[in-house]
Amino acid sequence: MDRKILHIDMNSFYASVELLTRPDLRDKPVVVGGDESLRHGIVLAKNEIAKAFGIKTAETLYLARQKAPHLVVLPPHHELYHEYSQRAQAIYREYSERVQPFGPDEAWLDVSHRPESGEALAAEIKARVRGELGLTVSVGVSWNKTFAKMGSDHRKPDAITLITRENYKDILWQKPVDEFLFVGAATAARLQQLGIRTVGDLAAADPEQLSKILGKNAWSLVFNARGEDDSPVLSEAEQGPPKSIGVSQTTSRDLTKAEAIRDLFTEISGEVAQRMAEQGMRGRTVRIVVRDTNFVTKTRQRSLVTAVTEASDILREAWELYEEHFAGGVPLRLLGITIDQLESRDAAEQMSLDDLLAQTPRSASAAKAANPLVDALLEELQQRFGPEHIRKGYKKDR
Ligand SMILES: [Mg+2]
Repeated sequence: MDRKILHIDMNSFYASVELLTRPDLRDKPVVVGGDESLRHGIVLAKNEIAKAFGIKTAETLYLARQKAPHLVVLPPHHELYHEYSQRAQAIYREYSERVQPFGPDEAWLDVSHRPESGEALAAEIKARVRGELGLTVSVGVSWNKTFAKMGSDHRKPDAITLITRENYKDILWQKPVDEFLFVGAATAARLQQLGIRTVGDLAAADPEQLSKILGKNAWSLVFNARGEDDSPVLSEAEQGPPKSIGVSQTTSRDLTKAEAIRDLFTEISGEVAQRMAEQGMRGRTVRIVVRDTNFVTKTRQRSLVTAVTEASDILREAWELYEEHFAGGVPLRLLGITIDQLESRDAAEQMSLDDLLAQTPRSASAAKAANPLVDALLEELQQRFGPEHIRKGYKKDR
């Protein structure tokens, strides 16, 4: 028996949430963007009307305004998106314990155990999200996760697409290969050089040959394109706590100016903080990734004495890493921030030490400043364990 899998995608999520409180703006092009006072703020999300003007996520507000002179720019409210994300997932969990979120606005559901058809459940959930949250969703229904996700992408907003064993070749195999799940720009460029232009071409490719060029990922790409993705929709318990939380953003234009790069890091920090709040986590390693216009990707990271949770702290660490390693380099097309060494925010056994270390310097510059409380603690520990075993400072990897 085939599985029944839904992929639900909340349409223009951030922009739609903002418009709930601003119905007067519904007929206008609206984007959620960085701080308006920042000259190079970027587009985080757009409504359908803004999309029709050709406005793209991650482009500068300046460029977006050139495309739509009457553009309305609203500042982001990450706590609100978090709340709506949780409320949607609570609805989904009434239908299955196998609900696997993919970012704040998407989730897979395995509803194989239910007597209703996938389509009937998709219609019911769609109506509930609209009625209870006021938001529209697109739903893909299929027998595997890959095709369900492609189905939710096929028609939007506010639509249901069934990808069946009868129609998948007609609907999905015509699509350009760069629209296939997990095919990024670099992979798409390589596939096109090999004459693989559509999802159907990918399905027809020899995975053995392809793996010599793309590595072992080639196997899952080809099999997924053939409809043979048998990966399960994971329950919350199976997903476990995340090992790291990361957000990256590619841009349609080269990033050269420091302000533009800092603005994008600002937005990404906000999203990372939101994801960590969703998971109730904090983290002790901050890693940044940058990719330049030649697709060269580099990462740098540092470990922290005090775990970070706030967007402003994440931004400070990320920005220091950037300035230290990459400032003034070649133009960039991707920035990302990942937080590692995650721990639960209510890890109670660490509270007393945390209280002390809350005053510990978080960076090289801050470490030079004296902190009597930490100095006293340090002295005591050195007396107990020997000075070679503990010293003051912050740890920096690589
Ligand atoms: Mg969405």
